[in-house]
Amino acid sequence: MPGALVIGAGPAGLAAAEVLSAAGHPVLVAEAMPSAARKLLMAGKSGLNITKDEAPSPFLAAYGPDLPPALRAALGDFGPSEVMAWMRELGQEPFTGSTGRVFPVAWKASPLLRAWLARLAERGVHLRTRWRWEGFRGDAALLNTPEGPRLLRARAIILAMGGASWRRLGSDGAWAAHLPDVAPFAPSNMGLLVNWSPHMARHFGEPVKSAAWSAGALVSRGEVVVSARGLEGGGLYPLSRPLREGAALRLDLVPDLTEAALRDRLGRRGRDSLPNHLRKRLGLEGVRAALLQEWGRPLPLDLAPLLKALPVRHAGPRPLDEAISTAGGLRFRSLTDDLMLRDCPGIFAAGEMLDWEAPTGGYLLTACLATGRRAGQGAAAWLGR
Ligand SMILES: Cc1cc2nc3c(=O)[nH]c(=O)nc-3n(C[C@H](O)[C@H](O)[C@H](O)COP(=O)(O)OP(=O)(O)OC[C@H]3O[C@@H](n4cnc5c(N)ncnc54)[C@H](O)[C@@H]3O)c2cc1C
Repeated sequence: MPGALVIGAGPAGLAAAEVLSAAGHPVLVAEAMPSAARKLLMAGKSGLNITKDEAPSPFLAAYGPDLPPALRAALGDFGPSEVMAWMRELGQEPFTGSTGRVFPVAWKASPLLRAWLARLAERGVHLRTRWRWEGFRGDAALLNTPEGPRLLRARAIILAMGGASWRRLGSDGAWAAHLPDVAPFAPSNMGLLVNWSPHMARHFGEPVKSAAWSAGALVSRGEVVVSARGLEGGGLYPLSRPLREGAALRLDLVPDLTEAALRDRLGRRGRDSLPNHLRKRLGLEGVRAALLQEWGRPLPLDLAPLLKALPVRHAGPRPLDEAISTAGGLRFRSLTDDLMLRDCPGIFAAGEMLDWEAPTGGYLLTACLATGRRAGQGAAAWLGR
């Protein structure tokens, strides 16, 4: 019987295994897929943005207004500077981009993951792949393994099976059927479906630059790309929650001018065609001009209000499986401050399977590492009782 059984070898599960093994406990990690941390590797494909180098207050604000105390405490113990120190320990020098986003110098996730797995193996952590957790039978975990079903007892169990998007990488959310008090899954950091008119086809693949997107009280100036399926990109991600809750999405095509300044700048049109007038006076052309036509027609005489708040006609979020991350999951009210399930002593949970959300920018991975460590510490304390 291992001291601790960690289920799920993503960043949260590996972080828990790291803390437990450092405290001297035997750890077995059971992973459903043929190899560990496939989503982490995917996240690193275009640069592993592992944390955000910013002060605690804006950093914590990224997790929304209702930050659960246990998550706040976990991030307080293992925030951006601790993530960077940990990377250095693994021989992965961090670098901070101009926006504060932190990446490994090696850019991808694979060198970091290799070093991490090697360190865990040195400490005696056993990783079993193709071992799939399928619930509890009494106090034992039921694991479906290549050798058939096994019932495994451990003095502490850490559940770290991720959210419910990109199921081909392992996190399919099937665990939700076996646990109580799970808030329904919903897409977060997701694209939007748009039923474009044929005029838009020539702009597919183009980023909408120099624009601001807003929903509810939130405004984002990040980049959004027009694609055949709709709108995608980091500029929409911070707006995930209000968009899911049904807030209207608006596009400010000239965010650096007030409505009055814009009206001044536009003046009288004279003999120019409207597209030429907008191009000459505002530099509005290409995909931004096309979006004005797409969503603004019939155009009013006074264009200023529309240019500042163009109503975006979309058909809702793209499917959950395509989302970068998942909202919903195990509710914090059913967890102790150590991330132990109140009704299941000795069973802890961490990572994206918990009910929190944050935009991309390194916030997701930091919270997965931080909650993994906190659950690991809780389990180590439990084992040491
Ligand atoms: C394309 C993409 C890009 C991303 N980019 C970034 C980024 O740049 N920065 C950032 O902060 N975040 C990013 N993320 C999000 C980040 O990768 C995740 O939030 C993070 O990996 C979640 O960690 P986790 O350990 O909770 O879950 P996961 O990484 O999903 O790991 C869960 C593990 O549990 C296993 N598992 C699931 N069910 C079972 C079961 N029943 N039995 C046994 N094992 C099971 C899975 O196979 C998986 O290995 C990105 C995500 C995607 C999809």
